[in-house]
Amino acid sequence: TIGANFVRTAGRFPDREALVDVPSGRRWSYAQLNHDVDALARGLLAAGVGKGDRVGIWAPNVPEWVLIQYATAKIGAILVNVNPAYRTHELKYAAQQSGMRLLVAMPAFRSSDYAAMIETVLPECADLMDVVYIGTESWDALVAGGSAVAADAVEHAMEGLNPNDPINIQYTSGTTGYPKGATLSHHNILNNGYFVTETIKFTEQDRLCLPVPFYHCFGMVMGNLGATTHGAAIIIPAAAFDPAATLAAVQKEHCTALYGVPTMFIAELNLPDFASYDLSSLRTGIMAGSPCPVEVMKRCMAEMHMAQVSIAYGMTETSPVSMQTQTDDDVAHRTETVGRVHPHLEVKIVDPATGLTVTRGTTGEFCTRGYSVMLGYWNDPEKTAGAIDAERWMHTGDLAVMFSDGYVNIVGRIKDMVIRGGENLYPREIEEFLYQHPDVADVQVIGVPDEKYGEELCAWIMMKPDAVPLDQAAVAAYCEGQLSRHKVPRYVLVVNEFPMTVTGKVRKMDMRAATTELLG
Ligand code: ATP
Ligand code: MG
Repeated sequence: TIGANFVRTAGRFPDREALVDVPSGRRWSYAQLNHDVDALARGLLAAGVGKGDRVGIWAPNVPEWVLIQYATAKIGAILVNVNPAYRTHELKYAAQQSGMRLLVAMPAFRSSDYAAMIETVLPECADLMDVVYIGTESWDALVAGGSAVAADAVEHAMEGLNPNDPINIQYTSGTTGYPKGATLSHHNILNNGYFVTETIKFTEQDRLCLPVPFYHCFGMVMGNLGATTHGAAIIIPAAAFDPAATLAAVQKEHCTALYGVPTMFIAELNLPDFASYDLSSLRTGIMAGSPCPVEVMKRCMAEMHMAQVSIAYGMTETSPVSMQTQTDDDVAHRTETVGRVHPHLEVKIVDPATGLTVTRGTTGEFCTRGYSVMLGYWNDPEKTAGAIDAERWMHTGDLAVMFSDGYVNIVGRIKDMVIRGGENLYPREIEEFLYQHPDVADVQVIGVPDEKYGEELCAWIMMKPDAVPLDQAAVAAYCEGQLSRHKVPRYVLVVNEFPMTVTGKVRKMDMRAATTELLG
């Protein structure tokens, strides 16, 4: 179980640093962290929280998030990750849908008054018995209450757990619609966290800078579990993503690894004072979550000292990672593919229409099977049956192609594919091309409704600082002779930002709606 694994790491590396919160300057060794996790776990037991009870956590990246993650894991309570961007309607949904018994929350963060929002939904959440606010008396009282239970109560609770018990309800990013609550077991996420950092050769010497949200599997599984299964340190650069704070933390804490979704690395690389940060301690890291532009990968290797940076592909429902590049793959494979299948998993690529496996080199839907596939969507057998078939294959909704050497390329989401005049167009290919334009900082391509062709392509472009904005004619001229005519965007919008999820993913759904409105 996660708790047993954590105790073992704390026993092996008691004096090594486990957790550092850069904004507050607080630091924990593994022995101290294990001690504080235990105290909190006892507090939870004393408050009547036990195996199978749902405990919500609604907070940005603060150390208490990590404490709650391991305290609930030790006693077998099911942690429910609540997106820090949620507002009352979504919070109520998560609390009601999961049957949340206890909610641990920040009282407020930036302009969000979490306490006020909780007060308004509390009367409608019948199961929610208690709310504990991080950094307040209610948190201290929860911990202090633990002295009422026996000193070995946590150990006893741990003995009663099974690795296949549900331990976590993780809501998906909500990139394509309403977030779904993936139910994951110890076995699912502990193993995946371990294999993810095995792949980038983690040891107890590593120090991992985590600007990705804990509420998402990238932070809590690939990050936290990836670190604690190896005795590595978790470094929190800021409560919410901040490119300058991230690089400053890497420099100050001598981080050896850095995670991020592509948009985060792009923001870091494009900081006006990027060159002033000393990033020489970096060795590796992971880029994942959405298509990773080749150019950005190359810049990470060349300009951020991340010679051993790896790309991972996965989804919340599969714990999350199923494909990853190896640090010793050649540069072409490491920048242009998502690598090969992870240990102990099966993958196949099928024709979405027939369900039959396609030949290598042919595009189809990516499916995976094995230990990593979630138990199901919480309390939603219908949606679960729509995602996991009778043979336990998870259908990802992503289009991919596997080459003869087993490496895979993610082509894009089935939902984002554009059908123009009967021809399938994959935005990723066009984005990669436009990304090479020297004035383009970031670019996203979507399909918008069109009377003649069914759909037409539209590119949203973010320009580099001081660059002259591109218009459709300029983009068309750039594509001339390089891309087939039908792949040249019919519309070009220069923007300052894209609509994003908290996990840093572009909500193409919202872009499509906004574009349709803008173009009338
Ligand atoms: P929702 O399911 O709520 O719409 P989501 O799919 O973005 O949101 P996540 O589980 O966070 O929620 O993300 C998984 C998805 O992210 C994958 O299905 C895939 O589309 C995309 N993805 C992840 N890693 C990569 C990668 N390396 N390259 C391309 N796409 C990726
Ligand atoms: Mg998804």
